[in-house]
Amino acid sequence: MQRQIFTEEHEAFRRTVRTFLDKEVLPYYERWEKDGIVARDAWLAAGRQGLLGLAVPQEYGGGGDADFRYSAVLAEEFTRAGVSGLALGLHNDIVGPYLTSLATEEQKRRWLPGFCSGETITAIAMTEPGAGSDLQAVRTTAEDKGDHWLLNGSKTFISNGILADLVIVVAKTSPEGGAKGLSLIVVERGAEGFERGRNLDKIGQKSQDTAELFFDDVRVPKENLLGERDGAFLHLMTNLAQERMGIAVAGIAAAEHLLEITTRYVKEREAFGRPLAKLQHVRFEIAEMATECAVTRTFLDRCIADHSDGTLDAVHASMAKWWATELQKRVADRCLQLLSLIHEPSPTAGSRPSTAERPRS
Ligand SMILES: Cc1cc2nc3c(=O)[nH]c(=O)nc-3n(C[C@H](O)[C@H](O)[C@H](O)COP(=O)(O)OP(=O)(O)OC[C@H]3O[C@@H](n4cnc5c(N)ncnc54)[C@H](O)[C@@H]3O)c2cc1C
Repeated sequence: MQRQIFTEEHEAFRRTVRTFLDKEVLPYYERWEKDGIVARDAWLAAGRQGLLGLAVPQEYGGGGDADFRYSAVLAEEFTRAGVSGLALGLHNDIVGPYLTSLATEEQKRRWLPGFCSGETITAIAMTEPGAGSDLQAVRTTAEDKGDHWLLNGSKTFISNGILADLVIVVAKTSPEGGAKGLSLIVVERGAEGFERGRNLDKIGQKSQDTAELFFDDVRVPKENLLGERDGAFLHLMTNLAQERMGIAVAGIAAAEHLLEITTRYVKEREAFGRPLAKLQHVRFEIAEMATECAVTRTFLDRCIADHSDGTLDAVHASMAKWWATELQKRVADRCLQLLSLIHEPSPTAGSRPSTAERPRS
């Protein structure tokens, strides 16, 4: 089905993203995956190409267009290229809105130009060894010392944790306040007492530097409070729809891409004297996955369009995230079975492999 949500400008942007990936990312990606981190140069190249700060006002060096469809194009192309390490989506769509919507004029002038040029890589640090889903359990504290905050604690699983120059840290400013006692404190590279821990070894996203951060008596200037004191919980909730959409867009794009690769593969690969795609079972598998992807695509495109218009609600953003990521897992599993078939072909030509013969994922 023809997609209806993009204009010629979005398609031109898609071509820019593809060129960027071909020139600045894919030639180096294997190296980065081995290193467990991407090169800073890639961020600067992304800045030069106008891929950073798409929604940041032009006066601070950004694209000046809050249309989420550009972010969707970026996420789709990165997903199709298999590039998860260079976390432009996190920078643009998750950290970016905190800076554009909560920062004071002075903070915007200080942080946004570097954010858009790629000189200032960003991260958001909520999770701690003892606090994940339950943010009330955050133990990192920012004590009000009059002219500065005194930050103590640690964070883990922080995306861009090693490369980040600016980290939005969720810290307790009113210990008795529970979820209402949390604030967003911006910590910049070089602050004394701010140390990086391990770059965590994950099962995937190898070139994404997901890391531990430690804060030991870090003196953070008072003017680095972002948004309202004790207002972090509300601030964090406000941007959830966009965070969910970023994940949903990548989910459906990954499912479509896996199906594309697998369809090409079963058409080309011969077994039992003919292409796998001639086997009825394989055709059923492909047809069912194509149907699920097409139905999901329609719903997702409607959500993308609604979010771009500012009308997407939390319920539909949550539906999109859950459905698209579940579909991604199902399609990955089913595609893997088809790709595996060629390595261990069923001895019975043309028949549906028995459960015992089908490799399990
Ligand atoms: C690759 C990666 C990148 C990440 N990047 C960042 C980042 O940039 N910044 C950041 O702050 N964090 C980041 N995280 C951390 C992520 O946000 C947390 O993993 C997430 O919040 C869950 O917390 P947890 O891992 O402590 O799990 P827990 O909260 O301990 O949950 C463990 C299990 O219990 C379930 N559970 C929890 N609460 C309930 C409940 N009420 N009812 C039923 N089941 C429940 C969960 O679903 C899960 O299955 C990242 C994680 C990963 C894996």
